[in-house]
This record gives sequence, C-alpha cells and structure tokens, in this order.
Amino acid sequence: MVFRVANGTDGIRMRSREVIVVGGGLIGSLVAFRLRGAGADVLVLDADRPGAAWRAAAGLLTPDGERLRGTPLHAEALEGLRRWPALAAALERSGVPVHLRPGVTRMQPGGGVVGTPGEASLHPPSVVRAARQELEVVAAHVQSLVPSGGGVRVRTDAGDWFAGQVILAAGAWSGVFGVGVRAEQGQALLLRGAPDIGARYGPPARGFSRYALSRPDGLYVGATSRRSWATTPDVHGTRWLRGAARTLVPDTDGAEVAAHLVGLRPVTPDGLPLVGPHPTLPGVLVAAGHGRHGALLAPVTAARVLGMVRQGVNA
Ligand SMILES: Cc1cc2nc3c(=O)[nH]c(=O)nc-3n(C[C@H](O)[C@H](O)[C@H](O)COP(=O)(O)OP(=O)(O)OC[C@H]3O[C@@H](n4cnc5c(N)ncnc54)[C@H](O)[C@@H]3O)c2cc1C
Repeated sequence: MVFRVANGTDGIRMRSREVIVVGGGLIGSLVAFRLRGAGADVLVLDADRPGAAWRAAAGLLTPDGERLRGTPLHAEALEGLRRWPALAAALERSGVPVHLRPGVTRMQPGGGVVGTPGEASLHPPSVVRAARQELEVVAAHVQSLVPSGGGVRVRTDAGDWFAGQVILAAGAWSGVFGVGVRAEQGQALLLRGAPDIGARYGPPARGFSRYALSRPDGLYVGATSRRSWATTPDVHGTRWLRGAARTLVPDTDGAEVAAHLVGLRPVTPDGLPLVGPHPTLPGVLVAAGHGRHGALLAPVTAARVLGMVRQGVNA
C-alpha cells in the first residue's frame, strides 16, 4: 500500500511524519493502530487530559442496551459489535488482554432478567494500553493545526511537527480546533469486593441508563450524564450511583469505593459522530464526537479513517 508522503515544510526544519493523530484515546489510538497495521508512518500526540473519556468508560458494546434500534447509529453499532472480536484478537497480540466478554442482561421492570444476545463488554483502559503498545505515542498538548507546504504544521507544547495528514481525535476537546463538539460529563463508581455479575442493565430511571459490570478492576456502576466540563466527582453523582448500585447488585452497601471516575463524553449537536474532512483545514480529517458510544463504534471509525487516508480525502 502507498500512503501519501509529506512533500515538504515551509522552510523551517521540523520533525516530519506521514500521519499524526491528535489524541490517543479510544478513537485516536484505534485509528492509529489500524493505520500502523496498514503500513503508515504514524505518530500519536496525547496531552493526557484529566477527564479523558476512555479512562472512565464502562466498555459496554450494547446497541440494544443503548436503545440505538431505529436511530441512524444502529447499523454502525451492529457493525462495531461484529468487528470487535477480530480487533480484540489483533490488540491482544501486544500481550495486553482487553477482556472482551460476551453476554449482557437486562433487568425487567416487574422483576426477572433477560439476556440480550450478541452484546458484549470489554475494558476500555486496556484497549487503549494495548493499542499504544504498538504505537509511538508522545506526551504533547497540541495547540494549533496550520495547513502549510502541502501538509499540516502541528504546534505543541513539546515543539512542532509536520505531517502529510492529521487526524483530529481529541475527544471533547476537539471543539478547540473548529468542530462542533462539546463535553457531556459522566460519573461512575468502581467498587471493590462485589460478586461477579457479568454485565447488566437496570430498568431506566429518569431517562438515564443504570448499569453494572464486573471488570478486572472491580464492579463498575454507571453512569451519570450532564452538560459540564467538571472533571471532579460530586455528591449528587455519588448519591445517584450508590442508588444505582443498590438496584443493580444487592449487598453492595458495604463495598469499598476503589475509584470514582469522571469522564467527558465528546458530543455533537445531532448526536452523530464527525468522521470526515475538517470543514476548513486542508490536510485534517476529523474523528470525534462519538458521545456515549466510542468503544462500540471505534472499529467502524478506524476502518473509515483508514479508507479516507488511502484515498487521499482532504489531503
Ligand atoms: C462514564 C462514561 C461511560 C462510558 N461508557 C461507554 C460504554 O460503555 N460504551 C461505549 O461505547 N462508550 C462509552 N463511553 C463513551 C466513550 O468513552 C467515548 O465515546 C470515547 O472515549 C471517545 O473517544 P475519543 O478518543 O474521541 O475521546 P477520549 O477517550 O476522551 O480521548 C481523547 C484523548 O485526546 C487527548 N487530547 C485532548 N486534547 C488534546 C490536545 N489538545 N492535544 C493532544 N491530546 C489531546 C486526551 O488526553 C485524550 O486521551 C463512556 C463515557 C463515559 C464518560
């Protein structure tokens, strides 16, 4: 396969790469993993922002649980679910298990539990760690993207780079670079010492999904949702999550809180991810705005971005 090679700079000596991915979260790291697997010279720049969604995400791969049937995202969600086993196997060649686990159940309003066939869960922080094992990732805060010399100059707090193509995957912070993405805060609890319950949705409460799943790092109970950039937990979140835990898994009152997670979901005005050419910046492709479905949709987005880079879209 032939990727487009950067054809020069604006005369200033800079480190130069074929593709630079801005943001190494669930989307950026899996996009970069696919590009790297296809032979591209790819570098990931990540600012390690507090509130990065991948650190707080549950890892449910649940088109039904998230009530996507009948929405424009349903087909992509099913495709994401279908692609996950092969992607998980490829990631695990790094030596890091991603804990893909089949089986999700839903509690019924009148009592009882039903299975939702085909749905699954995984461990998002492990997914990012596994992908990053195979990638070059530099700690850098990208400050601006400047089209120049047939590519893009990437200005960061750790110096400048030049790239033939840039993929903007900065999660909720992508809005800084001129696209319509904002933050929807979500809080969750990780409880220690709870029984293994697999993955389970509770009956909906005031429009929010309540769910719990057993993960290698504890029992995850989630998740709140509100329009906020705050990255620290609050008392309302704690109360709601403790209530959710009681509904979903009896006998968790005494369970120790191992972590109170807070993440910023990257959301768009119409709820659909932005995957395509940047509206004003030549050389930049956007992969952002996956809201509450980034883990589920990441395999589809990664494949689409790979296709666009191959075809030279917005190059
Ligand atoms: C509580 C909670 C539960 C969730 N549960 C699920 C779930 O069960 N299933 C599911 O599919 N999805 C879930 N999600 C959604 C999922 O986490 C997101 O859709 C996904 O993480 C988005 O990926 P991203 O890479 O776009 O953003 P992020 O994961 O937020 O990653 C963005 C990255 O960009 C970096 N960055 C930001 N700005 C810059 C910059 N200027 N320069 C360099 N780097 C930068 C950050 O450091 C970060 O690492 C959940 C989210 C939350 C908050």
